[in-house]
Amino acid sequence: MVTEIFKVDKDSLDILNKAAELLRTGELVAIPTETVYGLGANAFDKNACLNIFKAKGRPGDNPLIVHIANPLDAEQIAYTNPLYYKLADKLMPGPLTVILPKREVIPAEVTAGLDSVAIRCPAHPVANKLIEMAGIPIAAPSANSSGKPSPTTASHVFDDMEGKIPLILDGGECDVGVESTVIKITENEIVLLRPGAVTVEMLKDFCENVSIAGAVKEELKAGEKPLSPGMKYKHYAPAAELYLIDDKSVNFVEFTKEKQKAESCAVMCYDEELPLLENKNLLPVGKREDIKNQTKRLFILLRKADKMGVDTIYAHLPDDTGESLAIYNRMIRACAHKIIK
Ligand code: AMP
Ligand code: MG
Repeated sequence: MVTEIFKVDKDSLDILNKAAELLRTGELVAIPTETVYGLGANAFDKNACLNIFKAKGRPGDNPLIVHIANPLDAEQIAYTNPLYYKLADKLMPGPLTVILPKREVIPAEVTAGLDSVAIRCPAHPVANKLIEMAGIPIAAPSANSSGKPSPTTASHVFDDMEGKIPLILDGGECDVGVESTVIKITENEIVLLRPGAVTVEMLKDFCENVSIAGAVKEELKAGEKPLSPGMKYKHYAPAAELYLIDDKSVNFVEFTKEKQKAESCAVMCYDEELPLLENKNLLPVGKREDIKNQTKRLFILLRKADKMGVDTIYAHLPDDTGESLAIYNRMIRACAHKIIK
C-alpha cells in the first residue's frame, strides 16, 4: 500500500473530505492532535478497529480511546454523569480522556472486552474538524508501532506506518507532546490512570476525591492487574538502554561526563548544562524550569537517540509532581525503572 502524506490545516477541505471518506469506508488515517498523532478508524466498525491493532502490533487487550467532535456526543457511546459535564465544560476540547460505562454501539474490539469506554474530544482544529466531517466517533491510539515512543510529527508516523495505512495528515509538530491525561470517573471520584497535560492539581478543582493509580508511579507487582491495561506494557522505549539519574544524590554533569569518555552514549541534559559537557551526542531537553517545552521534546528526543545508534542514554530523573508527573511516568517506563541514585 502507498502511504500518502498531505500538509493540512482545518480549511484543507478537499483533503479532509478524502480522509473522512476513508474513515467512513473502514480505512485507517493518521491524524494530528494536540497531544500526539493518532491512528484513527471508525469506532463503530470492528474490522476497521482490528486493523489498528494489526498496523501497530498492539496487544488485543489494550483498549482504544474513542474521539468525538463535541463533548455532548459522549451520550451516544457512554453513560455520562454530572461530573463528566463539569469537566467537559472547562477542560474539553482538550488533552483529557474520561472513562465511562460504555453503551452497546461500541464494539467489544474497541474496549478490549471491558464494559467501559475511554472518550476524548481533541482540541486540535484538524482532528476536531475531521471527526465532525466524518460524522462518526473515531477510535484512535497513538500512531506509533507498539512499544515505540508516540509520534509527535508526521515523519515519526511515516517511519512506523509506511506501507500500512493509506493516508497521514501532516498538521505540524504536536503542541503538548505526550498522550492525554486518562481518568476513570464516577459521580464523586476521579482516579488518574495516566498523567498528561491536565494535572492532578487541575482535577482537584472538580472533585475532592482524586487519587493516582499505583501503576502511574510504580512498577506493577508480579500478577497485579492494572486499572488501565496499557500500563502493564513496556512503553515509549528507545532501542538504546535508558538510565535516569537522580540529581538529588548524583552529580549529573560529573557522572555523564565520565560516561561520555567510556561509552557510546547520548545525554539528555538541560540547556544550562550544554557548556559543561563534552559536545558529543547531546540531546538538550530545554531549560530546567520549562516543563512544557521538556514535555513537547520528550518523544522527539527519544526517537532522535535511536537514530544516533548509541548503546545507552542518560537523562535526569524528572520530578513526580505537577506538570512533570507526565514526563516522570513516560521516562520510568521507557527506562524500565533503571534509576541511578
Ligand atoms: P493510547 O491509545 O496509545 O493513547 O492508549 C490508550 C490508553 O488508555 C491505554 O493506556 C489504555 O489502556 C487506556 N484505556 C483505554 N480504554 C480504557 C478503559 N476502558 N479502561 C481503562 N483504560 C483504558
Ligand atoms: Mg500509545
